[in-house]
Amino acid sequence: MKVLLVGGGGREHALAWALSGSPLLSKLWCAPGNPGIAALAECVDIGAEDVDALVAFAQRQAVDLVVAGPEAPLTLGLADACAAAGLRCFGPSAAAAKLEGSKAFTREVATAAGVPGAEWAQFTDPAAARAYVRQKGAPIVVKADGLAAGKGVVVAETVEEAENAIGAIMENRVHGAAGATVLIEECLIGQEVSFFALCDGEVALPMVAAQDHKRVGDGDTGPNTGGMGAYSPPPAFTRDIEAQVMERIIRPTLAEMARRGTPFRGVLFAGLMLTEQGPKLIEFNVRFGDPECQVLMLRLRSDLLAALRAACDGTLQQAELRWSPEAAMVVVMAARGYPGAYRKGSVIEGLEQAAQVPAAQLFQAGTARGENGALVAAGGRVLGVAASGETLQAARDAAYRAVDAVRWPDGFCRRDIGWRAL
Ligand code: AMP
Repeated sequence: MKVLLVGGGGREHALAWALSGSPLLSKLWCAPGNPGIAALAECVDIGAEDVDALVAFAQRQAVDLVVAGPEAPLTLGLADACAAAGLRCFGPSAAAAKLEGSKAFTREVATAAGVPGAEWAQFTDPAAARAYVRQKGAPIVVKADGLAAGKGVVVAETVEEAENAIGAIMENRVHGAAGATVLIEECLIGQEVSFFALCDGEVALPMVAAQDHKRVGDGDTGPNTGGMGAYSPPPAFTRDIEAQVMERIIRPTLAEMARRGTPFRGVLFAGLMLTEQGPKLIEFNVRFGDPECQVLMLRLRSDLLAALRAACDGTLQQAELRWSPEAAMVVVMAARGYPGAYRKGSVIEGLEQAAQVPAAQLFQAGTARGENGALVAAGGRVLGVAASGETLQAARDAAYRAVDAVRWPDGFCRRDIGWRAL
């Protein structure tokens, strides 16, 4: 099969690595890719959001499968454009990708499907929103409805903090149009996990769960980031919980999306809170998480390409996914200053030595080739240093041994990935 992978981060490097191991693969392109991906695929200079150019390229090369890494091309209709051109695309239609684009839509679908989640209400009038918050009390969660670069959520400890958040989002429009509607939610208490299910519109196959580290600093301090590390499996996520999540959250959502005439094909990423009353839904995403995807691919033992094709063709019922019982961890190395302002262009060395650490696997994200071919930093999150091990501790030891072999004075990482489980 000829495959076009869309994206250029650590998630796509991990997907390219897994796809490369497939006996079904004859040719892999990646648009736009990165220097790490270039060792596994032919990188094409097309942006991940340039839907027309991606489809034209896929048609020209008679690609058998287009795989969308990030959500942006899906929200922009990549899957729809592929379908119109007679191309297979792994990832949902724009209508089904709304599960990520609009929190209010997700809540409506989840409520109709009977999915357990926080009690919620939505408001377009700030006065009504404030009255509701005063009636419910704190802690309480205030969210901008639209996409706000992951920053539109305030977990308010007091009623005053919640009222201020309503003012900032709805009146001062700190997130722009995303704040025209707010959602106010009950604050769920428990451990947060990311769970992934492969979906073909009707059938869902469970993948595995992972735990992410959103804050930039050790001990979960400092501002939120795209994710500074992850591990799998999270010990709190038992087989019994997985079964509950499939029965109460994933399958009912899939059925509701199909009933609405917008079946969901692709990977459904459920952000969950493991509460005392059982797992509850916080949010959906419509693609693999990054960095979670890196640990998922390390644990996957069956053919990724065959599974993605089955998800596109509606034949997941006959497909299988096998997972290593081993643990995997990824430590993200970022440019100093991230998630604020950071410098680009600093030289990164020592990747060969890092890759020689047994059980370690390096994935590149924001990297580029500088003058004379040196590898340089070109983004905020730059490397995913991953490793597997018989235990989480063994995976962690190997990952940090590999981190310590990387020579990049301008970079930093958290030193406590996995603390909750260890
Ligand atoms: P979201 O963008 O909806 O995933 O929210 C971002 C983060 O806010 C989540 O990862 C949670 O840590 C937190 N959060 C969101 N909704 C709730 C809730 N109802 N209860 C507790 N924490 C929440």
